[in-house]
Amino acid sequence: MIETISKFKEYCNSLTKYSRYKTREVQVGNVPIGGDNPIRIQSMTITDTMDTKATVEQTIRMVESGCDYVRITAPSKLEAQNLENIKKELRTRGYSVPLIADIHFTPNAAEIAARIVEKVRVNPGNYADRKKFEIIEYTDDKYDAELDRIRNKFSPLVKICKEYGTAMRIGTNHGSLSDRIMSRYGDTPLGMVESALEFVRICEALDYYDIVLSMKASNPQVMVHAYRLLVHKMKEEGMNYPLHLGVTEAGGGEDGRIKSALGIGALLEDGLGDTIRVSLTEDPEFEAPVAIILADRYKVRGNHNPIRSIEDPPFNPFEYEKRHSFEVWGIGSGIVARVIADYRKREIKNYKDLSDIGYFYNAETDKWNMNDMAPDLLYLGNKKLPFDIPNGLRAIFDFKFWLTLENKNIGYPLYSSEEYLNSGNDINILKFVSFDLNSVSEVFINKIKNDNNLVLILTTENEHGMSEQRRAFFELISNHVQHPVIIKRSYKNLSLDQFRLFSSTDLGSLLIDGYGDGVWAEVENEFISDSSGNQYVKKLLKEESKEKIINRTLFGILQAARVRISKTEYIACPSCGRTLFDLQETTEMIRKKTEHLKGVKIAIMGCIVNGPGEMADADYGYVGSGVGKITLYREKDIVKRNITAENAVDALIQLIKEDGKWAEKPISVN
Ligand code: SF4
Repeated sequence: MIETISKFKEYCNSLTKYSRYKTREVQVGNVPIGGDNPIRIQSMTITDTMDTKATVEQTIRMVESGCDYVRITAPSKLEAQNLENIKKELRTRGYSVPLIADIHFTPNAAEIAARIVEKVRVNPGNYADRKKFEIIEYTDDKYDAELDRIRNKFSPLVKICKEYGTAMRIGTNHGSLSDRIMSRYGDTPLGMVESALEFVRICEALDYYDIVLSMKASNPQVMVHAYRLLVHKMKEEGMNYPLHLGVTEAGGGEDGRIKSALGIGALLEDGLGDTIRVSLTEDPEFEAPVAIILADRYKVRGNHNPIRSIEDPPFNPFEYEKRHSFEVWGIGSGIVARVIADYRKREIKNYKDLSDIGYFYNAETDKWNMNDMAPDLLYLGNKKLPFDIPNGLRAIFDFKFWLTLENKNIGYPLYSSEEYLNSGNDINILKFVSFDLNSVSEVFINKIKNDNNLVLILTTENEHGMSEQRRAFFELISNHVQHPVIIKRSYKNLSLDQFRLFSSTDLGSLLIDGYGDGVWAEVENEFISDSSGNQYVKKLLKEESKEKIINRTLFGILQAARVRISKTEYIACPSCGRTLFDLQETTEMIRKKTEHLKGVKIAIMGCIVNGPGEMADADYGYVGSGVGKITLYREKDIVKRNITAENAVDALIQLIKEDGKWAEKPISVN
């Protein structure tokens, strides 16, 4: 598949200079998208569309939280018609926000909505196409006949949009690709792209171009590859439609933010994206502030210090390939990504100080216990621990301080690149060398190539840091340097939300491209207060130390990038007017009972219409199938249909037990 993709450059303007990728401008009501317009923010209501008052009020709250557009679900003709009342009421109250109708399956509803609202969204996986999880062999003739059928069903909507000046998003979702696309392309980024482009070609044949495209997935890696491939393919076909960015079913809270930032941020870093929707399993007015933090970061990015360009980088932007590294003292090669906790500035008085990062001392047994999110390395700078370090944890000291230690076996030295270049080759223990792109010289490369006890720590001070670090990886790969590399980022003067979103973008973007054998985040000062006045954030900052928050964030990033699984994965839909139960409450209830099941993926989906198609690669699905009724899935197969909601969580646990994936919850040791 990949042979058809030519030069890497064709998915963005530059891999080393920040530059926003320019798409065509599309008018959406009075708020144009694409071209030189700012990155637009949007979200989706979760009210019943037939409840005009509730939908209008939620829309207003969303506009006030920063949404430029508001999407409302229109599952049938009735809801589509009611969009007229909603729009009228909003305009009466002085809100001119463009509305977007979210359409699934029903051409009739779409054709009504397109006459009322400013934009409609269709999913080519289920608009006039089918998904029954069947593999069908298509001959070329049969495939073309299917496309003709789709053209006939889809064209009336395109004509209405053209007549009424209504824009359209053609939004592919990984997991809801039609059987036809799946049979030909598989469950791949290329399948996602082709699914959308088939619809775009129908639009263009009808001389309609007010199109926006999206390629969402709950796995940020798949999503990033699909968007890049979409841009590449659009360029090949002379298209330049604006991009709507989003990670689907990201979940809520910290994990939802990390996952969203990882996927959306990776694309924004390369200048891609004209509008953002962050999907959280929370009230929709909490989504826009997250999207705004992500978008605002690029307002002044173009002024960054220059990064040396590269003609032919060793990089395939459309497929995951782990950079090859050899193992150095349990770091690198195929070993899970390592985590460094930074305690340089933390005052360490006793054992309890390490409980923040998952190490718990038991005085009775004189042993340490650790949890699944305990880091592997502890950076101490210029100080020693007042007790013996737990087994399994290794201390790192600044090189000069380490030299002064009487017992040098209590930890390992961290050199700057200059210190390393000036040192002899006589220290035959694990050592860490900090470097950035600017310190990579022939002398440096030659020296490290002769040292097999060395782990590199890649830093950056560039505003466009991810690109500079990626460029450094290209340099190492081109020079056949295969030492493990831990990616380090340093931050100051950030709020907690900014830290979580920026570190997820910066570290996650590299990890999903296969770069990095570990992560380290340093935060200079305490987190500054959050401008949104978010009560949850305030509570968290009161209760948890900076080190605890950073450590959990790093493990969250590794989990979202799927390079180190340390907890259960939840794929929760953001909910909408179709949702059949309280998603936030239910997700929380399931989380409480299952959060110790490391590596198990559980999808919690609000409706059976779209839920099963969008559960992606979940092991189990908990899906609303009627009022008070739940249907349970094992992967894509129904195993219990329409059980009562009261019994559903127990039935889910029973199912996990039957599959041998259940473990009793460990008794908390903190
Ligand atoms: S899966 Fe969730 S967000 Fe998607 S249509 Fe159903 S209820 Fe709405």
